[in-house]
This record gives sequence, C-alpha cells and structure tokens, in this order.
Amino acid sequence: MKVFVTGGSGFLGKRLKLHRPDWTYLSSEDVDLTDYYDIEGFLLYHKPDAVIHLAARVGGIKDNAEHPADFFSKNAQMNTNIVDACFAAGVPRLLASLSTCAFPNVVDEYPFSEENLLDGPPAPTNLAYGYTKRLLWVHIKSMREQHGVNYSCFSPSNLYGPGDHFDLESSHFVAAAIRKLHECNKSAEFWGTGAPKRQQLYVDDLCRAIPSLLEKHDTVDPIIVAPDENLSISEMVSTIRSIIRPNADVIYNGKLDGQYRKDGSNKLFMSLCPEFKFTSFAEGIEKTYEWYEKSINNRD
Ligand code: NAP
Repeated sequence: MKVFVTGGSGFLGKRLKLHRPDWTYLSSEDVDLTDYYDIEGFLLYHKPDAVIHLAARVGGIKDNAEHPADFFSKNAQMNTNIVDACFAAGVPRLLASLSTCAFPNVVDEYPFSEENLLDGPPAPTNLAYGYTKRLLWVHIKSMREQHGVNYSCFSPSNLYGPGDHFDLESSHFVAAAIRKLHECNKSAEFWGTGAPKRQQLYVDDLCRAIPSLLEKHDTVDPIIVAPDENLSISEMVSTIRSIIRPNADVIYNGKLDGQYRKDGSNKLFMSLCPEFKFTSFAEGIEKTYEWYEKSINNRD
C-alpha cells in the first residue's frame, strides 16, 4: 500500500518513520498544506492509497496563548484542505490526528469518552487549536455521511518521548521537566501546585497504534489513544527526578495550575486492539532521558 504521511518532519512523524520506513513522509517543503492547489496537484500526481494526516501547528500553553490566531487559521486551513484534496484526488483512505485537547474543559464524569467531544468548549488555553480539531472531526463525519468514504480520526493524549521538542519556549510538560531537572544545580521550580493529573502517551506507543488504526478504524468515532496511567504532575516530577537528579529539591510556585483533570478513556481503542500494551511512564522516561543525554552529547 502506498501510504503518505503529512507532518513527516515533526516529532511524531519522524518517530513513525523509524517504525514504518516503507511509508512516504512529507514536510511543508514537499507540499504546503495551507495551499489547496499545491496539495491537490500533489495527490493527483502521486495517487497514494492512503494519507495519514499528522501535520499541524502545535505548541505548548505559552505558544497557544501568544499566537491563537495563527493556531486557528493555519490548522483550519491545513485540515480543510487535506480532507477536500484527498477526496478530489480519489484517495480512498484518510486517517487524521485530533488531540484530547479538543475535548471539553469540563465534563460531568471522568474519564471522558469519544461521545463527549462536543459537550462543552475546550480549555481556554487551547481554544483555537481545540476547535480546529473539532472542525476536522465534523468535516470527516460529513464526508463519511455524504460520500461514504473511509475517512476517520483518532485523539492522542499528550505525547512525550525521544525526539520531542526540548526548547523551553515551545516544549510540553514532560520535555520541559526533563530539561529543567537535567540542568538544575540544586533545586528546580515548577508551575502550579503539582496536583493536576495528566495522561502522557509514549510516542512509540502511538507509532505502534497508527498502523492498526489505519487498518481497522472505519467509524466516525474520534478514538482516544491514551494510557491507563493518569498521574499527577507531582507524581510525574517525582519519577523524572528519581531518574535524573534524585537529590534535587523540587518547588511548586502555586501559580497557573491548569485543568485539574483531562483524562480520556481508552476503552474503544482497546476493543479495537485488545493485545495493545502501553509503556509505563517510568519506562518511557528512562528511554526518553537516555535519548536526551545522547542527543545533547552529540551536539556538544
Ligand atoms: P510538530 O513536531 O510540531 O510537527 C508539525 C508538523 O506539521 C511538521 O512536520 C511540519 O512541517 C508540519 N506542518 C506545519 N505546517 C505545515 C504546512 N503549512 N504544510 C505542510 N506541513 C506543515 O507536531 P507533532 O507533535 O509531531 O504533532 C503531530 C500531530 O499529533 C498533530 O496533528 C498534533 O495535533 C497531534 N498531537 C500531538 C500531541 C503532542 O503532544 N505533540 C498530542 C496530541 C496530538 P515542517 O517541519 O516543514 O514545518
């Protein structure tokens, strides 16, 4: 099968390439997804059997807060273009990545499930990004209803792992915590109280899940891919500290705590892939830190 992956130069795409080197990985240099005619021409010429859409404007809280208009317009354009261009070029299969950030900020019962996607607005910290993922889901749902195509999507929780972005401006929590503890002398300060809980998905787990989803997922459900572990920030910091700097003092500054819970249920995903095993957070951190140390030693 000729499979093309958008976002092939990103954190997830580069890692997926190690798992599936037989697929073709695209960056914005190969095709600009904000340009409809660029992507349509490309797909008409190459005629892939399937497209996995991972490209997006992605970032942490600070980046989202400072550039909400960019997050909205770039993601809305890329997502709309890829779905329409796949259809226009006769691509029979599309699998697209949403994010659990698209789910409501607050739901009545946790963990939330696929049915809760539109039950309330996403967290204010990623409103624009979250809504563009919802638009992508609505577009895919509409294409399935109107044209009967096998287009579907999945929703990963926060990702971390080898190859993650470790710069302090745009990194997500796990990468930032690894770097902070690696670089600290005696103490490391973290935002908030340490109480909020998060599901952190090891990137290679998602890379193992994507081929199964491509093969088996033919419904409108925005399948949640997230581990069972739903750890508090302080539990995660304590695991990272024990691996990187067991003697470091950890301080929580009490400011900007974020959502207390945002965990999603993996029940539907597990019913599709019953043999799937998620990597524990401790094991994922060991592997990520090993990669991080090697990458900074190679850079020096
Ligand atoms: P990333 O590292 O920021 O990579 C983004 C990718 O999108 C890059 O390959 C980039 O290409 C491409 N891209 C951006 N603008 C483009 C354009 N105009 N035309 C074509 N390609 C463009 O993102 P990631 O973390 O790998 O995320 C991959 C997917 O997973 C996204 O859909 C994201 O929403 C989803 N996701 C991520 C997380 C997470 O924690 N990272 C969690 C849940 C879901 P260039 O390199 O050429 O710019």
